[in-house]
Amino acid sequence: MGIETEIQQLKQQRQALILAHNYTLPEIQDAADFVGDSLELSVRARDCQAPLIVFCGVRFMAETAKILSPDSVVLHPNPRAGCPMADMAEVPAVERYRRDNPGTVLLAYVNTTAAVKTMVDICCTSGNAEAVLKSIPAGQKIMFLPDANLGRNLSAKLARPMELWPGFCPTHNRITPEIIRKAQSQWPGALTLVHLECHPSVVALADQALSTGGMLKYARSAASKRFIIGTESGLVYRLKKENPDKEFLTLSPEPLCPNMKKISLDDVLFALRDLAPAVELPGEVIEKARRPIEKMLAMK
Ligand code: SF4
Repeated sequence: MGIETEIQQLKQQRQALILAHNYTLPEIQDAADFVGDSLELSVRARDCQAPLIVFCGVRFMAETAKILSPDSVVLHPNPRAGCPMADMAEVPAVERYRRDNPGTVLLAYVNTTAAVKTMVDICCTSGNAEAVLKSIPAGQKIMFLPDANLGRNLSAKLARPMELWPGFCPTHNRITPEIIRKAQSQWPGALTLVHLECHPSVVALADQALSTGGMLKYARSAASKRFIIGTESGLVYRLKKENPDKEFLTLSPEPLCPNMKKISLDDVLFALRDLAPAVELPGEVIEKARRPIEKMLAMK
């Protein structure tokens, strides 16, 4: 029996739901019940009635699933899959900032640890960041953490000054204007879609700057048949699968997030078999971290 069949059989026995991020390996996306971006996966975790969730993505995402679905057992098949950007906002530094700036709203990208979420006012994802930012009264001082690129892109688009945490996504930061220009000269006339985590100089060259969910939606409905994709290349697998009549060009060098590729089919099988490794968070952390996430979800 192939590993894919074993996973599906065990999944049924365990009444498990497999969630996977758009950047995971193709075979993981194929094994999942639902593939999406951070926002879509958060909503799915909140609304599912499954006793067991197998979360294929990076650690902060599995933590978010546990926070929103505390009665489910949430398995993160490879605990070594972390997000370097999330780790750039460390608890002591955020605590210090909070203490020294009592009147400032802390707006946290969902790419933060559960511990940091307990200290912030509201969360956002790249899919809803604009709406969340607009919900904060004008004139209110804001600290946006941890992604300075996303913060700068939003700030410029909405003419909304914010203090920015000096964090970044190493994968999206490696996408340079030269790489985009090279792709554009290779495919003249193609639409360029880039992720909002890219540097503003890259966003300036794009037709659209979106979340991964936004790129999927845009590519589906746009009349154009050719797209240059400026984000982690895992998304290209899904774009091609869903739009067989369209063409998608990955950048060169290929933007790869090594952490998103750490979860293998073997990891998923072992997690389902052993019911481990499970995400464990103290009840107090779940309760406090849920508030800023729920505030964000209430805005949908
Ligand atoms: S792509 Fe960037 S933001 Fe996403 S998990 Fe990898 S390092 Fe973190």
